[in-house]
Amino acid sequence: MNPAQETSDAIAAALLVWFQRHKRDLPWRGATPYGVWVSEIMLQQTQVVTATPFYLRFMERFPTVNALAEAPIEEVLVYWAGLGYYARARNLHRAAQRVVEEFGGVVPANPAEIESLPGIGRYTAGAILSIAYNLPRPIVDANVIRVLSRVFGIVGDPKSSANQATLWRLAERLVPQANPGDFNQGLMELGALVCEPAEPRCDACPLFVFCAAGHSPDPTALPEIPAGKAAVSVTHVSVLIRNEQGAFLLMQRPLQGLWGGLWEFPRAVMRAGETPKEAGLRAGREIAGYDLSLSKQVAKIKHSVTHHRITLYGFMATPREPLPLENPHRMEWARPRDLDSYALSAPQTLLRNALQAFLVEEGKGVMQPTLEWE
Ligand code: SF4
Repeated sequence: MNPAQETSDAIAAALLVWFQRHKRDLPWRGATPYGVWVSEIMLQQTQVVTATPFYLRFMERFPTVNALAEAPIEEVLVYWAGLGYYARARNLHRAAQRVVEEFGGVVPANPAEIESLPGIGRYTAGAILSIAYNLPRPIVDANVIRVLSRVFGIVGDPKSSANQATLWRLAERLVPQANPGDFNQGLMELGALVCEPAEPRCDACPLFVFCAAGHSPDPTALPEIPAGKAAVSVTHVSVLIRNEQGAFLLMQRPLQGLWGGLWEFPRAVMRAGETPKEAGLRAGREIAGYDLSLSKQVAKIKHSVTHHRITLYGFMATPREPLPLENPHRMEWARPRDLDSYALSAPQTLLRNALQAFLVEEGKGVMQPTLEWE
């Protein structure tokens, strides 16, 4: 076996093990080919958390391709209302009618046939064929582009035709004969949960040993977004956890990846559908290992790094119950006068400055307004 194929097999094996352990329980896992198809169409331009209730309602009303084909388009659009991009619904409906008329109501398992249906391109065909029919077909979507660009160190615009050809070639080489659907879902899941755009968690990544970007000072530098393209906005929430002695909890980031080895106040990246306070409580539970009560918002900081515009909220917090942590980071309680001796990232330095200003005012008994920093 050639070395490139050996590496591909090792990547596939590592990803499959990780996926079995970490996959989210989503309603379309194990669905029929039609159910997988509906989920893939809904997930185009739509987050999982948004698409899930729509998927459940849609599948309850149109449980089979026949049920969808027979329904009037007006009713289909009612069930799609709120998801946007209505051409997706119209194409899905037309395609369902063709599946009934031309393929006896069975979603085709043949690449040429399935790609002939309205709204099904190379990506959607690959997803349906691999996930529902267990065929070793590649997929390349935004998550896969990010993961493969970082693992293989692909520079330049990932949308260029040369890089698109490279990405599809790599995806094709990687997808295993056994479990191709799980492998493809694993790639997408890794991009969604670990290899995130602004904050890849390289220390928790099954592909770290293979990854070019993971061993670089800034994994977020890939994929390279062409100059002039809009920056991605992300919201971070840090909790300023103060114990009874007045010390604050700081955590050290893993050595690999963005801000490697620097310290920070326990922080979470806000997820779709979360409020800043909910993300702060999650930072307490998942990062710091405390059930918290949050109080004042001390700061809202804006900062840009590479192609990401970060908004960082900081909330005062009091620890209640300690909770068990799976992969605890190194942590220390720092007295306010010692906070300056920790190396922090740029946004966390601004947050520390805001906290110190807050503590001075608090000491004077002055109610402090929320501070905004740029
Ligand atoms: S090691 Fe880091 S950059 Fe590489 S794939 Fe994993 S999370 Fe992404």
